[in-house]
Amino acid sequence: MAQQPDPPAQQPPASPAPQTSPAQTQTPAPPATIPAPPVRVGPTIIIDPAHGGTDNGAQGASGIVEKDMVLRFARQLRAEFERQGFRVVLTRNDDSNPSYEDRAATANAYHDAIFISLHVASTGKLGTAQTYSYQYSSPATQATDAAAAPAGSASRSLVPWEEAQRLYLETSHRFADLVQVQLGLRFSDSPSTSKPFAVRELRSVAAPAVAVELSSVAVPDANMLYSMGFPLMNALVRSVQLFRPAPAASGNISGVAVPAAGAK
Ligand SMILES: [Zn+2]
Repeated sequence: MAQQPDPPAQQPPASPAPQTSPAQTQTPAPPATIPAPPVRVGPTIIIDPAHGGTDNGAQGASGIVEKDMVLRFARQLRAEFERQGFRVVLTRNDDSNPSYEDRAATANAYHDAIFISLHVASTGKLGTAQTYSYQYSSPATQATDAAAAPAGSASRSLVPWEEAQRLYLETSHRFADLVQVQLGLRFSDSPSTSKPFAVRELRSVAAPAVAVELSSVAVPDANMLYSMGFPLMNALVRSVQLFRPAPAASGNISGVAVPAAGAK
């Protein structure tokens, strides 16, 4: 398929290139047998390690600090999502504490994102996990109703910042339930369904958004929590794969954004 304008330059693949090329001071070119990393056309995964900076989050008697634990999990998650071919963005990758709006803005910079906020609870049955999707305390405003228009219509730009998640409540809830099922498979005794809750960092996200909370910082040994990282990672990657199956290789990759189902 590729047009080669200069066929005489073709060399047998196994033989070294005879012509001198510009000096490569980097590591030698890898052998052609190394498979390219998977390229997955799909949502950008926004991973939000909650808290940070002066906000430690929950703290346990054994010295576990939520802000550090969720950052560790976030980095683990990023590695696995990237291995699966996803583009991943962390809302923080150090001991900073972005505002809720900054965290949402990170997600809203991408037209097709999935937002996952990570927490570790101070309470709850040890070794369990709970997923939340956002719940507003008040009904939709008129402006939001007007904005709940077909994707691409100009009125979508009228959505107030703090109402951004309202257009995704149903989608987020569906994703949250998917996540909860996957978590339940790996952390028995976890609740069977997700919970709607006003998790503040989800409110301004204009994308499917969930928060996952592990229990808890009260574990007597931090290794108990560390050991939840691997199954957490698998549960979330699997959930995204189920929520947004990869398009067929030759498929149409446009129009895959998922607004609230049934929005009209
Ligand atoms: Zn938290």
